[in-house]
Amino acid sequence: MTASATNLLEFDRAGLEAWFDARGEKSFRGVQVLKWIHQQWADDFSAMSNLGKALRETLAAGACIREPQVVSHHESADGTRKWVVRVADGNCVETVFIPDGPRGTLCISSQAGCPLDCRFCSTGRQGFSRNLAVAEIIGQVRIAARALGHSGHGTRVITNIVLMGMGEPLLNFDNVVTAMAIMMDDNAYGIARRKVTLSTAGIVPGIDRLRDASPCSLAVSLHAPENALRDELVPINRSYPLGELMAACRRFAERDGRAPITFEYVMLEGVNDSPALARQLVRLLAHVPAKVNLIPFNAFPGAPFRRPAPETVNRFRDILIEAGIMTITRKTRGDDIDAACGQLVGQVLARSARHRRLQELPA
Ligand code: SAH
Repeated sequence: MTASATNLLEFDRAGLEAWFDARGEKSFRGVQVLKWIHQQWADDFSAMSNLGKALRETLAAGACIREPQVVSHHESADGTRKWVVRVADGNCVETVFIPDGPRGTLCISSQAGCPLDCRFCSTGRQGFSRNLAVAEIIGQVRIAARALGHSGHGTRVITNIVLMGMGEPLLNFDNVVTAMAIMMDDNAYGIARRKVTLSTAGIVPGIDRLRDASPCSLAVSLHAPENALRDELVPINRSYPLGELMAACRRFAERDGRAPITFEYVMLEGVNDSPALARQLVRLLAHVPAKVNLIPFNAFPGAPFRRPAPETVNRFRDILIEAGIMTITRKTRGDDIDAACGQLVGQVLARSARHRRLQELPA
């Protein structure tokens, strides 16, 4: 393997087929190699017994299978697991597995840090370093799947994958879409298409592109039903205000028989948790097929917010349910290992640090 070797973890099935095709090889080699990499955990080409010796040698000379490195692994008292994964250039990102009865949800990161600066999110305070490569995104799935005994052609321990870790996936569009294709491929991880969920803070042009680029499900981090408040909590709202965001959500939902979009709403005491705002949220969601996930705020050092009392969250939830909106309160999982929503920080060598403003706020 040379330094310039092509990392085959960068490719989905179509990419591998094209790669072999361009080298005068049969394109079905693409599926064979995809299975070796993502179902048999091959790290080199010597074990690939259905490839001829000459082809294996050619591959060994020009290609490699290189996964990001696990720095540490933590297991929560509630069974949640977290991996800290080092990606190229010294950044670290975090990957979390949340078992829940028959369901197993893997939460993965798409960027080292995040450029969006949402006020209640610890990842945002880290600033932004860079987009993750396909190999770094799918590498997180490969690490977790192997550790958990997940098999794309057997026991599917991971039933759901959510792009709800560090980063804004729609700002790393092409790499995320390719990685999602590998997750869904029956020759790789075999996750059901609708069980792969991309979560966005509301990048409107990205939502429109995603409609045609991937059959995944969509989640939108809403957090406020009116522009003035959302401008403060989710600053990207100033570029893509609620009217435009909801119109994009409607267009997305129309794609496939109006499958619901999940709206995430972090509950911040005294900020966005009043009954009046719940009623406003009902009006906002009136014309889009919606489910709501209420996420009681998870604290992190220096955070200028608090989690509301359970009664406040329940009252907010009941207003939505009475209006006919499917609503659940997300259970806090893995907070003892800092793996809960909004607690993922990894290690980001930030090139921008807009978080300073937030650090100056009182704790
Ligand atoms: N950038 C994308 C993907 C990250 S998803 C997005 O914003 O959707 C991470 C989810 O956790 C988002 O819904 C986010 O708003 C929520 N979150 C962030 N910080 C949180 C915190 N401190 N407590 C609870 N939820 C938080």
